[in-house]
Amino acid sequence: MNIENTLAFAQQLDEKDELKDFRSRFYFPQHEGRDCIYLTGNSLGLQPRTVQAHVQQELNDWANMGVEGHFTAKHPWLSYHEQFPSILSKIVGCQPEEVVVMNQLTVNLHLLLVTFYRPTSSRFRIICEEKAFPSDQYALESQVKYHGFDPREAIIEIKPRDGEYTLRTEDITDAILRHKDELALVLFGGVNYYTGQYFDIKKITEVAHEAGVIAGFDLAHAAGNVELKLHDWEVDFACWCSYKYLNSGPGGVAGVYIHEKHAKNKDLPRFAGWWGYTKETRFKMEKGFQAIATAEGWQLSNAPVLSMAAHKASLDVFEEAGIEKLHAKRKLLTAFLHFVVNDINAKQDKKLINVITPANESERGCQVSMLMQSKGKEVFHALTKEGVVADWREPNVIRVAPVPLYNSFEDVWQFGSIIQSILN
Ligand SMILES: *Cc1c(COP(=O)(O)O)cnc(C)c1O
Repeated sequence: MNIENTLAFAQQLDEKDELKDFRSRFYFPQHEGRDCIYLTGNSLGLQPRTVQAHVQQELNDWANMGVEGHFTAKHPWLSYHEQFPSILSKIVGCQPEEVVVMNQLTVNLHLLLVTFYRPTSSRFRIICEEKAFPSDQYALESQVKYHGFDPREAIIEIKPRDGEYTLRTEDITDAILRHKDELALVLFGGVNYYTGQYFDIKKITEVAHEAGVIAGFDLAHAAGNVELKLHDWEVDFACWCSYKYLNSGPGGVAGVYIHEKHAKNKDLPRFAGWWGYTKETRFKMEKGFQAIATAEGWQLSNAPVLSMAAHKASLDVFEEAGIEKLHAKRKLLTAFLHFVVNDINAKQDKKLINVITPANESERGCQVSMLMQSKGKEVFHALTKEGVVADWREPNVIRVAPVPLYNSFEDVWQFGSIIQSILN
């Protein structure tokens, strides 16, 4: 296909888009009487229109049934969380028993580190990416200190080579092999929040295992965005939030994956609570924790049903759209965005926008991070004024993420045309 940076071409792609009607399933923030061009689904996904009814259902059942709602609600609260694995396992590529919805992302990261970061005096180091999301940095730093080690010694950050913005897989895997006898854990992002680089999870896991090390991933920017096959790649554990690409509302309930070889192991150390206790005998309320032999065995508390209702409403939309179709549209939409940005550059005397997100489709999701060579703030303010919701990261990066569920090719064209008009 010959891509063109024109409105007619964008409209033609929208016309052919099988998922185009899903846009109307979401609420769009308004700007001067029309929908914003919302390109920050990587930060907070839009609200599906079905969320209110799902939450209202639980409010009604609570009002009408009180405590009995645990058993008699339309979706009984006792087992509310059991609705998620069938859908989520398709999104992250695993078996239903390997996934559980609980707590929030950083909380879950800590809980997983309790199980999977088991340092010894000789093997206590952690390999991670430089400039990981701050919460992940703090989680690692505090876990290392909690075990009595010095973060400066224990945490090895992989940096891009001089003059580069993203990591080369071989630099990650070389570091793992070089430090293999000192490592307790490899913990990487799936997609880096700043550059949008999608790391080679399969390869990193493979090499970590070759080195005898556990491999875990924070998939905050990957879940609901890129193709994942956590089980087949033998990833040991992963966690993600639900409010970015998964559209489940601010601070929404989060997700965890634990490979079955670990999930089945009831003896793995963990911080336990009653909701992780074997269901058949949970309500005997006896002494001595007996873990459920699935990822559910890591649950602590009973399900936060109101937050889960929003999550369920949103995941139903994913299910209906179909995961494969979403990936196909994402690739085309992102390729179009790359084309539009390159076209803008080509029309300037000097390259204005340096796209630091990898050009290679297999190394990115739908986010594009644009390092502005000049006029960064000016362009960003003009975009905002025209009703484009993008995101600014100091010192001069504009991040945008057209998401396949609700963004159109016309959105992307509009975005480019606004930048173009600022420059003219
Ligand atoms: C968004 C994000 C977080 C946020 O953590 P919360 O516990 O949900 O507040 C953490 N880590 C990464 C990598 C993120 O992208």
